Amino acid sequence: MRILIADKLAPEGAAYLRDQDGIEVTIRTGLAGDDLADALREHDGTVVRSAVQVTGPVLLRCAETNGWRLKAIARAGVGVDNIDLVTATRLGIAVMNAASASTITTAEHTFALMIALARNIPWAHAAIASGGWDRSRFVGSELHGKTLGVIGLGRIGLTVAQRAMAFGMKVCAYDPLMNAESAMEGQVPLLGSMQELLARSDFVSVHVPGTEATAGMLDDAAFAAAKPGMRIINASRGSVIKESALLAALADGRCAGAALDVYEQEPPAADSPLRNHPKILTTPHLGASTTEAQEAVAVDACRALVTYLRGEGIIGAVNAAGLSLDLSDRQRSFVDLSARMIALLQAAVPPGRLGRVRFGIRGDGLVGGAESVARYALVELLRSHLDEPVSVINAALIAEQRHIETETVIGAEHGEDRLVIEIIQDGETHRVEGAIYSDNLPRITSLDGYAMDMVPAGAMVLLTNADEPGRIGLVGRMFGEARVNIAEMVIGRRKDPTAGKTIAMMILKLDGAPTTALLKSLRQGPGILSVASLDLGAL
Ligand code: NAD
Repeated sequence: MRILIADKLAPEGAAYLRDQDGIEVTIRTGLAGDDLADALREHDGTVVRSAVQVTGPVLLRCAETNGWRLKAIARAGVGVDNIDLVTATRLGIAVMNAASASTITTAEHTFALMIALARNIPWAHAAIASGGWDRSRFVGSELHGKTLGVIGLGRIGLTVAQRAMAFGMKVCAYDPLMNAESAMEGQVPLLGSMQELLARSDFVSVHVPGTEATAGMLDDAAFAAAKPGMRIINASRGSVIKESALLAALADGRCAGAALDVYEQEPPAADSPLRNHPKILTTPHLGASTTEAQEAVAVDACRALVTYLRGEGIIGAVNAAGLSLDLSDRQRSFVDLSARMIALLQAAVPPGRLGRVRFGIRGDGLVGGAESVARYALVELLRSHLDEPVSVINAALIAEQRHIETETVIGAEHGEDRLVIEIIQDGETHRVEGAIYSDNLPRITSLDGYAMDMVPAGAMVLLTNADEPGRIGLVGRMFGEARVNIAEMVIGRRKDPTAGKTIAMMILKLDGAPTTALLKSLRQGPGILSVASLDLGAL
């Protein structure tokens, strides 16, 4: 497995990767455009920070070239603005971030900004540095007893709120995605609107993601609703505060001060009024800049990449639509079983136009992982039909684009774990059923209407024939003449409603691959209706 570190990263990241078996690490920073695409297509995964631009054209050039292999991008940090998520998703490339490693660091920076703002520390320091000693100009404000309004009570917002309470502040929050009256065991009331929060807060700290919905959410109207003399801190994303509105609120005194770590444009223009404003404290996007966080973020991103590439789960996925791929061993065994079930079904059924897929999943061993098992199974199903790369990231999207209806029906939690895959091809329904019993061996219990009990592994030949005496002997003789040893034979029978006859399916598990000549003579054998060979590999 080859991994490209494409941005300057704490050395602990590369060290982690080099410690892993079977991983080759390349470090190439400063790449852009075609050079970046050419480097990426020779790697299975890449780790980036915010400098390298993984644009749509870069990803597409990667995909257009034969032999590209990029499956995942891990961002050592939070924001993924430098990665074209839409194109990555379309191409089945997983994008992951390492968000939690910078939570405490960013919360501490927010706190540093809040205290420094309340006590005029940067301006007092600058006065001393320039030879002054003016104490009356820098009279500050206590935090104790003041109200802190937290906009966005996610990881960082919560961490800031905890620290504020330790400082004796009253904390309230606004977060439309938290459906409760209060948070932190009733200590933080969750207000119904941002305006309500602004009207009662002495300090406001913003911790929302930078999205279209949050862009400019602190605008003129928001500042007009704020408690006069409020102070605002932003260590989230620059787009959240409309800077012209902030400047106006500072000018008319509604806002007493602001501490900013992030800006609408980074870095702000050389002549930006934010740069040297007497009421604005600035830091150059330092929220996550501590040695501890840089190391943690590098290792977290590399670990997420390796975990995904090894098929062991997905940590911090940005484009997996909430799918948890962190499956238990049992659920993983069902993913493996689903691939075997699909291979068998495709061997048993003539090719056709796939219209609908239905996954039926039940049993207590599959609780919490059913959707993910179904997604992996969908990948397997689509992969055999398509040239383009299919992964858990883009499988649902590809199905939707091709008007293939998908449905996952999750049955009872109790009882035996079972998986049913049903496809409708050219209007006909075909179904395969599988289970894993207490011996932990995967089983096929029914294949396209033929009941059976088979462990799906190794090389095998599937054939259907008219259910008449002598067929088994005939087939056995053909294998003997071809010197191909049959290890096991499984037989299922079903009534063919159209012909009014019974058809038998023979699955012959072999010690070695069948020869082309053997397959040819089987196809010409009397009463033999279909012959398919496949190798499902070892268990
Ligand atoms: P998070 O996803 O854990 O939390 C974000 C919260 O905001 C969620 O609870 C969400 O429900 C809430 N939210 C979304 N839209 C909202 C809205 N319109 N109004 C109110 N709440 C809303 O994210 P996090 O890890 O806490 O990060 C928060 C922000 O900090 C992100 O923008 C992230 O990019 C930024 N960040 C900045 C730095 C830095 O260097 N300054 C470092 C790390 C993170």
